[in-house]
Amino acid sequence: MPADPVAIARDLVRCRSVTPDEGGALALLQGLLAPAGFATHRVVFDEPGTAPVDNLYARIGDGKPNLVFAGHTDVVPAGNEAAWSHPPFAGQLAGERLYGRGAVDMKGGIACFVAAALDYLQANGGKPNKGAISLLITGDEESVAVNGTVKLLQWAAARGEAFDHCILGEPSNADAVGDTIKAGRRGSLNGTLIVAGRQGHVAYPERADNPIRGLMTLMAALHAPLDGGSEHFTPSHLEFTSVDVGNATVNLIPGEARARFNIRYNDRHSQTALKALIERRAEAAAAGRVRYAIDWQPSNADVFVTKPGPFTDLAVAAIVEVTGRKPKLSTSGGTSDARFIKDYCPVLEFGLVGQTMHAVDEYSPVADLATLTAIYRRIIEKYFAQQ
Ligand SMILES: [Zn+2]
Repeated sequence: MPADPVAIARDLVRCRSVTPDEGGALALLQGLLAPAGFATHRVVFDEPGTAPVDNLYARIGDGKPNLVFAGHTDVVPAGNEAAWSHPPFAGQLAGERLYGRGAVDMKGGIACFVAAALDYLQANGGKPNKGAISLLITGDEESVAVNGTVKLLQWAAARGEAFDHCILGEPSNADAVGDTIKAGRRGSLNGTLIVAGRQGHVAYPERADNPIRGLMTLMAALHAPLDGGSEHFTPSHLEFTSVDVGNATVNLIPGEARARFNIRYNDRHSQTALKALIERRAEAAAAGRVRYAIDWQPSNADVFVTKPGPFTDLAVAAIVEVTGRKPKLSTSGGTSDARFIKDYCPVLEFGLVGQTMHAVDEYSPVADLATLTAIYRRIIEKYFAQQ
């Protein structure tokens, strides 16, 4: 009997694994993988000021190549549960859809990979032809992501685990399974621009120095284009996300003004070079007249791209064979755990359709679960046939 991705996804949805709670989700996966011969490890990570989080690493087979599937069983909260037409943790099937928190982000994707791997193993005498299949499943992706993938990768490396290629099962598709592979992500950098002035009475501006003028000058300068895009990326852009003076009074010139900004940047920049560019622009615009500082927040979201090659070709071919669609290789969207995995091996993101992720009435069409399982199955088959 082939493993049923819909049943696995439904059972996973029924686990209340809102970050940082494991909710039974990892135990459920362990219960499916261990009997099939996977060596499974549950690892709890902890750090002062954060909740401990449970993670799972499972592997079958030895040596190279090690194809790793990465994902997270934690989910964002359901919000107002009364607003859902199907309870968020009931895993109800209705109208050929599986409803529930995590149906697409990303318990559904995990269920599809598990079903595909079990099916492949069953057809291949219980082991990959050569090498290994691994699953790297975290319970800490949706929140602060400090006791999850980063530490799990370090833990695995310390045990001597080596990864050759990774599929991250995040919902990568825009409209239909097979339309998009995410093959890289822009970097993300946050900063605050702080302009100093001199507080005073609004009726006597000559006795004060209004920092809002200086802030406007610098903000205008920082809005200038950063680049014209690159081969794999759209142009980088800086967006101001907040302008703060905090002045509750009508007759006061404030002493300080701040503006927060975020930059989504492409592979034409490194973090260091980008900071230097912004600082040069601010300095030129300030022209020695505006007193300012830029406060950069630490960022672990560097830009990366997984360049087209045999692994990408293999995934594209599997998708074309199953769906008839040729996926676009995209680098759009927010950051994901791929930003950590890319330091260990090439990583592609491919999963379900992202439309309802984090929304009320999150659902996956049952047909999508079948399609994604068939694609993962084909990828595994091709991957080990090729090696
Ligand atoms: Zn996700």
